[in-house]
Amino acid sequence: MDPAIPAFTPGEADTHVHTRHSCDSEMDPAAALQAARARGLRALVLAEHVDFDPADQGYGYYDAEAVKKTFAEFRIPNSEFRIFRGVEITYQPQYQDAIREFVRAGRFDWVIGSVHLVGPDDISRPEQRERYFTARDQRRAYGDYLGEVEKLVASGLFDCLGHLDLCKRYGHAYYGPMDRALFAPQVTRILRGVVEKGMYIELNTSGLRQDPGEPYPSLGVVREYLALGGDRLVLGSDAHAPEHVGYAFPEMLAAIRSPWSSS
Ligand SMILES: [Zn+2]
Ligand SMILES: [Zn+2]
Repeated sequence: MDPAIPAFTPGEADTHVHTRHSCDSEMDPAAALQAARARGLRALVLAEHVDFDPADQGYGYYDAEAVKKTFAEFRIPNSEFRIFRGVEITYQPQYQDAIREFVRAGRFDWVIGSVHLVGPDDISRPEQRERYFTARDQRRAYGDYLGEVEKLVASGLFDCLGHLDLCKRYGHAYYGPMDRALFAPQVTRILRGVVEKGMYIELNTSGLRQDPGEPYPSLGVVREYLALGGDRLVLGSDAHAPEHVGYAFPEMLAAIRSPWSSS
């Protein structure tokens, strides 16, 4: 894969936005584009959901032809601005072959791999979330999630690792803030894998608008990635509405550079 994103420095492009081509968003693609330009971004990736599990609410929703039609309709007066056709694929090890074929055939500009399920448990769904978190302590619940992330990285299927520790979004109500010390060795393994595979890693700012009140992953993890020699950081808002495109990018860039910021 040869994504076009390297032309941009972190924060110039929003690499993770969902429009009405995703099962859980109604955003008009043109409104996303307009918002990105208004915020001074130089590029935008429409990274629409693709799910391979028939039990997933997004299964079968992605319509490649409809997306292509949207891109054919875009009129971008200022050629400085770029818009890319991406996908956010829910990674599950059992669908690895199908994902590989989908990515090969789709010829996407940008492919994010994300963990949304741990085994059969879709932790984003309220009833499954309750079952998952009440049956496990934090060490096990987040450790199992991060174990799936390790498999995702090892698969080599994706350009970018999506929201490394999204588990804390749903676990926050059960455990409070994530106890990062519990997972330090596992997170280091993930980061080393990302660097070795030449993957991109996303700082997903949606966590700032959600219960954890910090990005996915936290800034300490981003700094560790940089210290390991990683130089493929991108910023993604995970916006489902125009007002969230490019969300908190300037603040996050400033905080990464500040040695005094701990979040
Ligand atoms: Zn996601
Ligand atoms: Zn997303």
